[in-house]
Amino acid sequence: MTRAYNFCAGPATLPEEVLRQARDEMLDWQGSGMSVMEMSHRSDEFVSIAETAERDLRELAGVSDDYAVLFMQGGASSQFATIPLNLMAADGSADYVNTGIWSKKAIAEASRYGKVNVVASSEEGGFTTVPDQSQWDCSVEASYLHYTPNETIGGLEFDFVPDSGPVPLVADMSSTMLSRPVDVSKFGLIYAGAQKNIGPSGLVTVIIRKDLLGHARRETPTMMNYQVIADNGSMYNTPATYSWYLAGLVFKWLKAQGGVEAIGQLNQRKASKLYNFIDDSDFYANPIAPRFRSWMNVPFTLAEDSLNNDFLAGANARGLLNLKGHRSVGGMRASLYNAMPEAGVDALIDYMAEFARERG
Ligand SMILES: *Cc1c(COP(=O)(O)O)cnc(C)c1O
Repeated sequence: MTRAYNFCAGPATLPEEVLRQARDEMLDWQGSGMSVMEMSHRSDEFVSIAETAERDLRELAGVSDDYAVLFMQGGASSQFATIPLNLMAADGSADYVNTGIWSKKAIAEASRYGKVNVVASSEEGGFTTVPDQSQWDCSVEASYLHYTPNETIGGLEFDFVPDSGPVPLVADMSSTMLSRPVDVSKFGLIYAGAQKNIGPSGLVTVIIRKDLLGHARRETPTMMNYQVIADNGSMYNTPATYSWYLAGLVFKWLKAQGGVEAIGQLNQRKASKLYNFIDDSDFYANPIAPRFRSWMNVPFTLAEDSLNNDFLAGANARGLLNLKGHRSVGGMRASLYNAMPEAGVDALIDYMAEFARERG
């Protein structure tokens, strides 16, 4: 069996060690005689798995007791509605920054529940930069300020945490969570779909400052009420037990790599290698302002779009998978999440150099 290098944006590559451990424990978790998939979520075994995962996530991300950590379902997209239902009064408003396709989806969904003010947007320039914060038209009346630190599709990443003053800062960290150190205390709420850096799809981790609990609107579905989920240890209903377990294995793996500080340095090195290669080539290009280039998702184009299919076929033949760009952007995209080894980036660059030599 050979594992390919999988550059998919999500669901994304997982650490091989994690998959091996899950395989070894598949039929019999630590002498319990059961697979984790078959366990009651109320059992001592599963409760220990769940609590360990939460503890490790808190340690990795530096989450204090002022915050609740929730393991919810429905992916990041369900949070687009859950957030306004819990944090915005029906006659209130929220501020949103528009830096790409995920921002737009969050804005569209929140707009169904109240007044959304788009305080800044880089749409006119094709989402290739982050608007300077001095130009943002924020309001102290807003229930919260929402932004997307890493736009997974465009490959645009904030290199700063916005200052929202007294207004709670809300971040969709789906594709950047645990990829570099972040000061959680600057945020009111952080959410992340698991399938990029954390585990299987469907699971979504939510880190919420406790004073923001308990304000859900009356009509909020029970399953979307942060207070209810927090009060029940994310087990108001049957949680996504196997995904939660796998996330826990990923957290252990990340701790063994040295945590977010160490993985952040590795991620920066991986991304710089690829961007430097692209910039030095006259065959490949990336349109994002260098300061805001994503460490996680690197879109690039070839000199001729007509070569795209040949490029992808050659990549597949070498075990470099899922490099096709998002349909809305075109070209290619290499996602370099935590679990992508540096050797995968090296293999990609070797192939890109060879392709450019032969076809450029
Ligand atoms: C992947 C992604 C989402 C959507 O996640 P789902 O789990 O599919 O709902 C939302 N926001 C960002 C930034 C993403 O990368």
